[in-house]
Amino acid sequence: MAISFDTKHNPIIGKPEQLEDDLVVITADNASPMTFTGTRSYVLGTDNLIIIDPGPDNTQHFNFIMKYIGKRKLTDILLTHSHLDHSPLSRRLKDETGASIIGFGSADEARTSFMKKLSSSLDLGGEEGIDKYLVLDEKVVENQILKLNNYSIEVVHTPGHLSNHICFSLKERKILFSGDHVMGWATTLISPPDGDLGSFMGSLEKLSKRDEKIYYPGHGKSLREPKQMVLAQIAHRRDREKQILSSISKISRTPSEIVDEVYIDLNPMLKAAAIRNVLAHLIDLYERDKVSTDKFSQTAKFSKSN
Ligand SMILES: [Zn+2]
Repeated sequence: MAISFDTKHNPIIGKPEQLEDDLVVITADNASPMTFTGTRSYVLGTDNLIIIDPGPDNTQHFNFIMKYIGKRKLTDILLTHSHLDHSPLSRRLKDETGASIIGFGSADEARTSFMKKLSSSLDLGGEEGIDKYLVLDEKVVENQILKLNNYSIEVVHTPGHLSNHICFSLKERKILFSGDHVMGWATTLISPPDGDLGSFMGSLEKLSKRDEKIYYPGHGKSLREPKQMVLAQIAHRRDREKQILSSISKISRTPSEIVDEVYIDLNPMLKAAAIRNVLAHLIDLYERDKVSTDKFSQTAKFSKSN
C-alpha cells in the first residue's frame, strides 16, 4: 500500500515559523534527498526556552537560532537522536548559552543483542551519518517526565531509525515531537546495525496506542492526523516484507537485486538507502526464521526459508 505523503513544503530557511503561541520552528539550510527541505529545529517557550534538535553544525543556522533567542535564556537542548543533521549544533549552543544537553545515550545505547553481535562480527556496513562527538549532560529513560521551565515533557523511547531515538510528548497538549521516527514526507531510513526494523515496528505500535493529535517531525510538515500516518506506515512495512519474501521465494537474491525487483519508480539517488532498508527487513526476517543466508552483508544472497 502506497502512503500518501504531503510533499508540498517550502519553508523559508532561518525564518522562525510560529506553530503555537509558545512554539516556533526554524528550518536549517541542509535540504537533500535524505533530509527533504532541511532539519526542523523547534524552540519551545516564551521567556526561558528549550530547543528540540538544534540541527547540523552550521554557522548560518546557529546565527538564526541565536537571533531568535535574543536576550532570553536557552535552558535545555533536547535531542531526538544523534544523527549529524540533528545533534551537532548542541555543542556550540551549549558553549554560547550554558544550556544542558539531554538525550537517550550513545548511538548504540539500546542496540539489541542480536544487532550487537552482527555489528561486531560482520561487515554489515552502515553507521552513516552518526554524530560521533555527542556529549550529553543528562541521559533520560523511557517514560521519564522532564520538568523543564513550566513544561512536563514525557520521554517516549522509539528505537528503530537509531537505537537511541526518542520522541518528546507534551502530554496535556497532545503534541509529540517525533524526530525521524515518523515524518510526513517519506518513511524513515532503517540502516543496520543502527537501524533495526523489528525495534522500529515495535516503536510504531507503541505510538499507535498513544493519543497525541499532532506530530512535529524532524523534517517536513507537521502531521495533523498522526495516528493514520502511523498505521499507514505499519501497513506499508508489512507490505514491503511480503514483497521481499515473494521476490526470494524461488531464487536467492542480494539486497540490491531485491530493490530492483520491488521498488518501483525509485529515485536513483535513493537506491543506496533502499538497499539498507531491504537489508534491515532481511535481518528482521532472519530473526523470525523466515529467511536464510550464509552471511550478513549487503552483497550476500538471501532466500526464503522453507
Ligand atoms: Zn536521523
